Amino acid sequence: MQENKRPLTDWLPITKKELKYHGWDELDVILVSGDAYVDHPSFGPAAIGRIIESHGFRIGIIPQPQWKDDLRDFKKFGKPKYFFGVTAGCMDSMVNHYTASKRKRSTDSYTPGGEAGFRPDYAAITYSKILKELYPDVPVVIGGIEASLRRITHYDYWSDKLMPSILESSGADMLVYGMGEQPLREMLTLLKKGVPFQSLKTVKQTTWLINEEEDVPKNKNWVDIELSSHEDCLGDKLKYAANFKVVEIESNKTNARRIVQKIGKKTLVINPPFATMTEKEVDGSFDLPFTRMPHPKYDKRGSIPAYDMIKFSINMHRGCFGGCSFCTISAHQGKFIASRSEKSILAEVEEVVKHPDFKGYISDLGGPSANMYKMKGIDLSICDKCQAPSCIHPVVCSNLDTSHKPLTSIYKAVDSHPKVKKAFIGSGIRYDLLVSEYNKKLDVEAADEYLEQVVTRHVSGRLKVAPEHTADATLKIMRKPSFKFFHKFKEKYDKIQNKHGLKQPLIPYFISSHPGCKEEDMANLAAETKDMGFQLEQVNDFTPTPMTVATVIYYAGVHPYTLKPTYAPRTKQEKQDQHRFFFWHKPENQQWINDKLRSVGQEGLAERLVGRPNMLNKPRKNSPNYKGGNENSSKPKTKHINRTKVETIEGKPMPKWLADKRKKQTEGGNSSSSRSKKKSRTGKKRK
Ligand code: SF4
Repeated sequence: MQENKRPLTDWLPITKKELKYHGWDELDVILVSGDAYVDHPSFGPAAIGRIIESHGFRIGIIPQPQWKDDLRDFKKFGKPKYFFGVTAGCMDSMVNHYTASKRKRSTDSYTPGGEAGFRPDYAAITYSKILKELYPDVPVVIGGIEASLRRITHYDYWSDKLMPSILESSGADMLVYGMGEQPLREMLTLLKKGVPFQSLKTVKQTTWLINEEEDVPKNKNWVDIELSSHEDCLGDKLKYAANFKVVEIESNKTNARRIVQKIGKKTLVINPPFATMTEKEVDGSFDLPFTRMPHPKYDKRGSIPAYDMIKFSINMHRGCFGGCSFCTISAHQGKFIASRSEKSILAEVEEVVKHPDFKGYISDLGGPSANMYKMKGIDLSICDKCQAPSCIHPVVCSNLDTSHKPLTSIYKAVDSHPKVKKAFIGSGIRYDLLVSEYNKKLDVEAADEYLEQVVTRHVSGRLKVAPEHTADATLKIMRKPSFKFFHKFKEKYDKIQNKHGLKQPLIPYFISSHPGCKEEDMANLAAETKDMGFQLEQVNDFTPTPMTVATVIYYAGVHPYTLKPTYAPRTKQEKQDQHRFFFWHKPENQQWINDKLRSVGQEGLAERLVGRPNMLNKPRKNSPNYKGGNENSSKPKTKHINRTKVETIEGKPMPKWLADKRKKQTEGGNSSSSRSKKKSRTGKKRK
């Protein structure tokens, strides 16, 4: 961890002593967070804390309080004047704590030293209950990704059941969903004017509960839609699935309806979301006086892996219009892109280069998807009426402006900065946007210029992209384009590489056990990628996280948009079997793959993957393992990085120490089984 000489008052206070340094006796708002306090715009608790501070409120943070002792951490600041804010942290605590196979992780990327055990399961619920017990008369507001994606009846994979809105489970008074700046700013303005907290019922993007005998307050600007009650969902999976479709559509509309749902003797009210943030508003959030460092209290406890990963990275926009079925980004950040100005981004570069540890390398100039910066509808009045959950699936919308020029301009500006040796693109690039056969209205010249700039100046050794699968039927359920467009992209990529004499492998990511994916699809995926010369080492096993299309299919067995039965691998055995096809190159899998495929009449596929029976476990000429007949030479030509939830954090690459640890864990077996040997949990994401 870097030395820092800044005064403690540059950080928001986290101890009673620091409160005194600020000259405060009490606080207006206290934030309780499941993450360590890193004062950086990429960390939600810090961003929210700085916004509250910017409105002139006295704000303190209680990071990672101990929840099993006499609760002294929760009591240290006493009562806040206005409310407690609660967040589980930058990740859902269950995703943070468990692997796709529900094994406890051994590290936590949002804790100093990467140590596990500093946050409870279902953290937002635990913290809120404690606060309501200690201070029943003080309002509790929950937010962050865990609260946001659990705002309505949702499937919880870890307890394998439907849970009601987290407002009901936590006892909190209000929930802020999505990115919290806009609702928070409005709440603070109203509170400052003297409006009592209990009257804040019309703030957009907030959710609250009323008793069933109370009427939902009338609002002439909003149209209401009532969904099936929580109890109806418990009794009928189709009702739960149908609810999801409405929630997703309303979350992605410019003029959304207010959602109402009965839960027992209460009524849940979800106010519509705010409009997409303007450039000025997004800049406002990033330009706050962050120290961009962890609180000095952690100096002796080791570095915070998630911070190490992003300390030299720059986030250029929010939102994603991809609408992938397994992803929660658009459900949380929205479908419409909110971009920062070039000026604000370049000002942040100036801050990054001043960091005492900066050695000239920016690790990521990115966003949820690297290449959606400044993209939006050409005619916004058409977007205002649109209900599509994705702007690029099943086809790229003809109203979408996918110009890559603003992005190329920023890359070039950062690249020419005298103190920047290299600025990498660590976030995933949507390769389909760059393929004219898929993106029919693509400005090919601008897209080619962008890709050439990326390949020649911004790739850190290899470029990772995410076709996610090769089977069209599975890709359709994933809301991803056909794999044939990945081939087209690879042609372009290879051409640029050859032109510049570069050797930076293209690394495709895939998901196994995704709804719609059958065993034969995984076998075909393995064969097709093998034919392309890839020997992939790890695959992301699908995790059903709250509020995704894929999770609804996993639980309900139907697609929420058609209510038609849709297959999803559910058992441990099914998941493991899908995994094994992917690892066709491991000797221990070859006999099994051979027997399995031949037993269902897929001799051709068996031969393509593992060869003739008498060749089993022997390297073959068409195998990347072939080394002139030496059976012991099995060093792969192409390495593939694991893209599980534990390998990325908020869409950023994992730091080297954690990646090395993962690599060790996965040697000699699949990632989940080796992780199972660990006693506790790891930090992860993201995306
Ligand atoms: S009209 Fe097209 S660009 Fe606009 S929101 Fe809908 S799909 Fe996206």
